[in-house]
Parts: sequence; C-alpha cells; structure tokens
Amino acid sequence: MQTHMPRPALAFVLTLALTACGAGEPTRTVVDDAALADTIQGDNWLAFGRTTNEQRFSPLTQINDANVSSLAVDWYLDLPGDKGLGSTPLVVDGVLYFIGSMNIVRAVDATSGTLLWVYDPRTREYADRLRAGWDLSRGIAYWDGKVYVATWDGRLNAVDATTGTELWSVQTIDPDLAMYITGAPKAFKGKVLVGNGGTENGPSRGYVSAYDAETGEMAWRFWIVPGNPADGFENDAMRMAAETWTGEWWTHGGGGNAWHGFTYDAELDQLYIGTGNGSPWNRKVRSPDGGDNLFLCSIVALDPDTGEYLWHYQTVPGETWDYNSNMDIVLSDLEIEGAMRKVILHAPKNGFFYVIDRTNGALISAEPFVETTWATSIDPVTGRPVEDPDARYPDGMANVTPTEMGGHNWHAMSFNPRTGLAYYPAMHQARTYTDVGVDPATYRVTNWLVGVGVGGGNTGSTHPTGVLATLQAWDPVRQELAWEVPLPGIYNPGTMTTAGNLVFQGRVDGAFVAYRADTGEELWRHDMGLGITAPPITYAVNGRQYVALLVGYGSLMARGREAAELGWAYGLHTRRLVAFSIDGTATLPPQPPPYVPGPIDFPFDVDRALAARGAVVYGQQCGLCHGGGAVAGGLTPDLRASLVVPRIEDFASVVRDGTRAVNGMPQYADITLDELISLQHYIRARAEADLAAAAR
Ligand code: CA
Repeated sequence: MQTHMPRPALAFVLTLALTACGAGEPTRTVVDDAALADTIQGDNWLAFGRTTNEQRFSPLTQINDANVSSLAVDWYLDLPGDKGLGSTPLVVDGVLYFIGSMNIVRAVDATSGTLLWVYDPRTREYADRLRAGWDLSRGIAYWDGKVYVATWDGRLNAVDATTGTELWSVQTIDPDLAMYITGAPKAFKGKVLVGNGGTENGPSRGYVSAYDAETGEMAWRFWIVPGNPADGFENDAMRMAAETWTGEWWTHGGGGNAWHGFTYDAELDQLYIGTGNGSPWNRKVRSPDGGDNLFLCSIVALDPDTGEYLWHYQTVPGETWDYNSNMDIVLSDLEIEGAMRKVILHAPKNGFFYVIDRTNGALISAEPFVETTWATSIDPVTGRPVEDPDARYPDGMANVTPTEMGGHNWHAMSFNPRTGLAYYPAMHQARTYTDVGVDPATYRVTNWLVGVGVGGGNTGSTHPTGVLATLQAWDPVRQELAWEVPLPGIYNPGTMTTAGNLVFQGRVDGAFVAYRADTGEELWRHDMGLGITAPPITYAVNGRQYVALLVGYGSLMARGREAAELGWAYGLHTRRLVAFSIDGTATLPPQPPPYVPGPIDFPFDVDRALAARGAVVYGQQCGLCHGGGAVAGGLTPDLRASLVVPRIEDFASVVRDGTRAVNGMPQYADITLDELISLQHYIRARAEADLAAAAR
C-alpha cells in the first residue's frame, strides 16, 4: 500500500460559503452508520443509494403526483469540460457533491449551484494506466466529514468535505495489471470499500478491499476467485471455490471483478458484494472441464469487519456470456406468502428478477423480467438455472438473449415501499455468441479478446412490441410486471422514486420524465437538449424540495452507430448539473440541435492490405470507444472526420505519447509505427467507403 501526503494545490476553496446556504444555524449531520441507515429524513441524500438499503426512495412529498406538472428549472451549473456523466450526487446539509469526467469532484451550494470547491485528483497524469472507455465514475462516498473518491487509474482518495483538500491517497490496484475503477466507494463502520473492473482487459483476478476511513490503511481484502493452488489459498472460502474450477484457470486470472453493486446491510451487519463475469468470458477456455467457477456472477455476503466469507448465491453457475451480478443489491422487508421476509432485490444481466433471503442467501423466488433464452427458469429448490444447453455455444454459435449488455445493467434500480414496486431500465435484444476456432490450449488473453466472438451485432428486439428498451415497474412479491413504458435507444439511465407517488428517469434522447409510481402514467417531461446517462436524486434545503440530475450523455455504450443516430456528437453539447423545484424560475440556455457527424474527404492513398491489418488492430484496441466501423457515437471523436489520423506525426503523438489524456484518451505506449500506419489506412478506407455510399 502506498499513501502520500496531499500535494499542494490539489484543491482550491472558491468561497467559504458553507454557512451561507441556510438561514440561522447550519445543521451539522454526523454521517455515520446511523445517519446512513435513516430512511425517515429526506433532506439529505447521504449515500449512493440514498440510504444503506440502496432503495433510492425519498420520503419527501412536496413534489408529488398532483403538482409535478409544474416542476421547473431552479438552478443549473454548466460543466463545459465534462463529457459522459453517470454519477449519483450526494447532498449533506445543503451542500451537493458530485464527481464528473476525469474524476473531478465539485461541491456546490445545493440551493443555487454556486461552486464551493473543486477537487482534481489529476487522473489525466496517469495516461498509461487509463483503460479505454472507463472515464465514467458512478459516484462518491461520504463519511464523517470526508468525501471518498475512487479514480479511473485505481486510487482511493479521501478529501475534506469542507475545503476539498486531499487528506490521503492509496493505490488499490497493482500498476502492472489492466484494472480500473468506475464504481462508487462504499462507507460503513469507519471503513471505505472499493472494488475494480478489468475482467476483459487482461488476466484478472477480482477482489474488493476495505480501507480505514481515517487513515487509508488497508483493513482487509477479499479475493473473488481462487488463485494458483500451488501458492496456497488465502482462506477456506478460496479452498471451497477452487473445487469448482478445472484446468489452469489462474493463468487467465478468472475474473469476477466487483466493479459495481456493494450494499452494507446495517440491520444484519453484513456486506453484500455483487461479482463479475469470468475472464475470459468463454468457460471452455478458463475452466475446460466445466464447473460452477465460484464466486463468479454471485452475491457474496462478507463480515464487514474482517472481510470473511459468510454465504453466497450464484446467479449464473459456470458463467460464459459476460453475465454478471454487479447490478444493484437493494434491501427490503417484504410480506411473502404470509410471512415477513428480509430480502435482497436483484435484477442482474441474466434477465431474472431475484428475491433472496438476506439472512442466509437462500433463493425465495426468481422470474424472468425480459426474454431469456439461456435458461427457461430458476429451480426454486436448488436455486440453479434450468439452462438451454445449446445456449453455451458449444464449439459453435448460439443466438442468446439477454446479450452481454444484459437485460438490466448498472443503471440504478429504485424501490418504492409504498407501491411495492422496483423501477429499472430493461433491455430487450439478442446477440450471436461464437467460439469457432477458439482453442483453449493455445488461447492467450489480450485486451478485449474474451474467448468468444459476439458476432452478428444486435440481432434485433426480443420484446413483443419490437422496442429494444423499456422502463419496468416490477412487483417482487408477485414476481410480475406491474407496468412498462417504451424507451428510446438501448442504454437508458437509472431511476429515483418518492413518497409523492413519483418515479423519475432521464433518457438517452434527452427527455427527463416523471411518472406516477403506481400506474406508470407520464406526468411531466423536460427536454434537456442532450442525452442523459445519470440517475436523478432529490433532497430539501430550507423547506424546498429539489430534484437534481447530471446531464451528459456518456458511458461505454455511447459509441457506435446506434448511439451516433441520437446526434450527441463529441464535444458539441454542454454538460450540466440541473436542479428543479416547484417554484423554479430559471431557463436553461439552448443546446445545439442533435447532429450526426460524417466522414470527411482527405487526400490519402488507401492501401487495401494495410487497411485489412488495421481493421484487426482497430477491433482489438480502438473500436471499444471509437465505435465499430469507425462510426463514433459521441463518447469520442468520429475518426472518419479526423484531421489527426491521416497525419502520422499527429496521430502518433495522440495514440503513442498520450497527448490527449486530458480528454480521456489513454496512452498506448507499446503501439508500433506499423500498427499506427495500418490504422490510418483502415480508418481512411472506412471514411472513403462511407463517402462513396453517401454519394450514391
Ligand atoms: Ca464484463
């Protein structure tokens, strides 16, 4: 572990206006376990899921189903340097804290948007460690006067909540491993927990780590999959897990990275970790003779003080489709068949909605919320899926739903105890998986080679109405859909729900919408002029209720042709933090209309053989962010329109030297001149082909 003293000038205090945001004596909330578990107070939004139960349910009722139609902009803060924004802000005593692009954290007056301080963890200086595509933090944590910030390159930093001064910083990732952090840290019992991503970026063995909130000293680490038995197992849980693996899995890492989905159950004093998919995806490669491969794609309960294993529930034994259980783990008490049960609500990628007994991890019920062809049902006795064996694409192909994007992904699921419904964006599509030509004996893990081709692209909607995405309201007691509305695009953001009988959700087309929570009737909509990726929050200051939202289309799915059609072209639209109230009188400055960039003409003599080689390099290294076929979706510049690409000196400085790291472009220090030249020819070939097609 490395800790260091704060470097000077990491933060600057713009104004000491903290006491000016309320009349009279300011409230000073001590943010501890009791405060984080308090579901009664509505003024603050203290944690990622508002409270420790992760319900994203607010008891506030000033904005409600009778008056939400007059909800209006109260204040806004332009964020011209930001790109994709997907995080959940926190509100503590009238101060709103949020993390934006390049992990920059701002504190603002929650009644006006006036900037109080900016904390820049200087993520851009780690250009050689930035794994492509992941400049999108989902949030921060707050504990006892400190804000906790996990960075793209793997640091966990503590920041003074009053001044924005960095107090300590610890590197949580081996710098030689291709990992990154996008998830929000979680604070509980004087500790801060972080996980990481990286399952697809190279040999990866997932883990979570807890650090002392005061000092940054590591308290414990829990490994998600077993390492090489010859090195000895860290604990009995790893010994047990190793029984479920075959072959030499450790040479591939195994995966299971916990990049999202941490819940501290203050009532039962248990910590729940959602775990990731296998590395590589294809079980045939990483565990050739089968096996469940614990603790991939599971909810694992840990002792919060020691990190010791308590129990687990695995949603996909022998995971092989990039399914994972990193989605939200929401806690509730529900009356099921006449008995009150302490439950986990969980809607992971695999398309089944799970109700799990959180005292012991036993399955209570599971039903599909989207079309599921990989498994028909979950056996209520064994808790195991009833699989379609052909869906494992055994030495061939299979068309499978949900896709590797999931029936539901990380976008926040809220739960309203008044309506008894859970609200989340669902995705309805199929994808072809193929492992033709993959030989486990010779397979080597490289960046985004996952032992399986996700061929054929999206093979269409699996929803009866033909839409790809819907907002669903799910009844976990009856295990059935209560209501559903169609959504634009595919990858829509998460939800928030209130005692005012409301559900709020932004959308990729820029609409911010409020629905009746019980019926799904649309009650209000505001066009933000830019696609939305973040979930909203609500809070109150001086008796006024606000709804706040970050507006900044982004995330890994803001790429490629499907996203490009939305028209949120790279760098065109202003990112914003926007707050609404019933008495709001502000007006947002207009945004440019949606614009879909196209290729530009440029004198360049394309060599077909070089272009073919460049296509391979592009697919492995570039397409993840810049889009398939070099058609960008707005997360990144469209390379077909780039004046940098055709000029080799400029191109090399950006790609090999990392000169655009400030914009989130990682450094590819090992790329060769031959590879760069082949990329030039591929990208210009794509541009010329699209220009020719447009001219026809
Ligand atoms: Ca994955």
